[in-house]
Amino acid sequence: MPKPQKGTTTKGKYIFVVGGVMSGIGKGVATSAIGCILKSKGFRVTALKIDPYINVDAGTMNPTEHGEVFVLDDGYETDQDMGNYERFLGETLPEINYMTTGRIYRSIIERERNLEYKGKNVEVVPDVPLEVLRRIEKAREAAQADITLIEIGGTIGEYQNIIFLEAARMLKQMHPMDVAVVMLSYVPIPNNIGEMKTKPTQYASRELNSAGLQADIILARATMPLDKKRKEKIATFCNIPSERVISAPDVESIYDVPLNYEKDGLGDILADVLGLERRASDLSQWQAFVDKSKNGEQEVSIAIAGKYFKSGEFVLSDVYISVIEALKHAAYHLNLKLVLHFINTKDSAQHDAEVEAWSGERLKELSRYDGILVPGGFGESGIEGKIAVIKYARENKIPYFGLCYGMQLMVIEYARNVAGLVGATTAEIDAGAKHAVIDLMPEQKEKMTKGDYGGTMRLGGYPCKLRSNTIAGEAYGGVGEVRERHRHRYEVNPEYVMKLTEAGLKFSGVSPDHNLMEIAELPKEVHPFMLGTQFHPEFLSRPLSPHPLFSAFLKAACLRRQASEKK
Ligand code: GLN
Repeated sequence: MPKPQKGTTTKGKYIFVVGGVMSGIGKGVATSAIGCILKSKGFRVTALKIDPYINVDAGTMNPTEHGEVFVLDDGYETDQDMGNYERFLGETLPEINYMTTGRIYRSIIERERNLEYKGKNVEVVPDVPLEVLRRIEKAREAAQADITLIEIGGTIGEYQNIIFLEAARMLKQMHPMDVAVVMLSYVPIPNNIGEMKTKPTQYASRELNSAGLQADIILARATMPLDKKRKEKIATFCNIPSERVISAPDVESIYDVPLNYEKDGLGDILADVLGLERRASDLSQWQAFVDKSKNGEQEVSIAIAGKYFKSGEFVLSDVYISVIEALKHAAYHLNLKLVLHFINTKDSAQHDAEVEAWSGERLKELSRYDGILVPGGFGESGIEGKIAVIKYARENKIPYFGLCYGMQLMVIEYARNVAGLVGATTAEIDAGAKHAVIDLMPEQKEKMTKGDYGGTMRLGGYPCKLRSNTIAGEAYGGVGEVRERHRHRYEVNPEYVMKLTEAGLKFSGVSPDHNLMEIAELPKEVHPFMLGTQFHPEFLSRPLSPHPLFSAFLKAACLRRQASEKK
């Protein structure tokens, strides 16, 4: 280990990841991939995200605007990038690792109200950056991290994140040897020019300079690898050695990214910048996973039936990113080639039109899928479409996997069509319904009457007791109790549990006090795989350890595929 030098903290090293040119080029994946490489070298790593929103957390943001809300084990509702960090690092991250402008200001104001600033003027600079640094330090301490990654949301040059760049500048000023700045930039190839243009990157770098920071490394995102000439150009005009300009071309899968960076020696470059010893990385397991992801032979086609796919004229799948990644992890481990389809169940704002749209020929088309998944969701629109899809899956024995709302709607469908509870529904859409088989949890009822919506759901990790001789029990390998992450206000109404059970629905997972139904399923003899979870198993799936329920679902889908191929 090199001796601590002047200006070092001796406690830890910090890497800020910032974005230049434009958003949406994969800062979250870049941060995660850097973490993955450093961890594979034996460093203890943690990762934080700073979002420039005034929202205190991501819980109240519309998914079509912001993408998925990723729930941490401690219940905090965060940005989907936190999911990427957990997946690439294989770690469970705490809430201190996520902050928004709103959250930072809120704690400063609370501290001010508590007289913790001891009468001094509290100012945007330096008090906001100092609060940011305090949080970074807390996260580093909690993880005992050798290297702390901090992703600054937004793009350099935006008004909203300038204060976070200031935090990075202050930390670098205090500990110049311990802080690295990585800029992820975009190098376009305009169609009419047909040449890779570096000017936007040069401007971004200058803009970063004007915030008092100099990039140590530039990751140049582009549709193809950078040639020597562009690397040199970026190096010359952005003030760094050309080896520190790393080519980051589009890749087939996000899981290729750490391997690609490592090929360009990013890990060693970072070690050099931070004054750490160079260490060999061990990405062999990761490589094996990536190889598997490309070599799947047996095809399996899965339809995700949801309603948050559209944003203007564009189709979004970001809203379901953890679900999609969880399907991929399980598929790759089973050597399957995953083919995903998205079914938009939101046809119309009108209930009757939706029922109409989801009948006849349209439903029959569902037979071509090997499995159907209904993910989490909220509100009335799209639900009749989903219920029709679920009914079809049940009657036609197509493997079905329901997550949260997908489980609640599965219960509703069963109540209506098998248990004979006419008009059964959820209190979420009809609070006065005769058969509210899904009802508000008592503690949430109280909060909502006060109009207090933010952070009022049942959130985060809770235990679930598994019943033996069930599909769920078997999938988890006979474990008695598991911990899974939640995000819901409603639950299966305890008053209907008996009736539904008598009608043939099995609750194979329950809360330890037996009050909450966590998993519902149909017996294997009746249906090959019809299972829903009140929790979100997708949040716990990792590339190197897929979630057992996703694996069980895909195994069932694969069997259906094989059977249909034999016909
Ligand atoms: N809307 C349902 C509830 O609040 C389901 C939530 C979800 O799918 N995450 O209980």
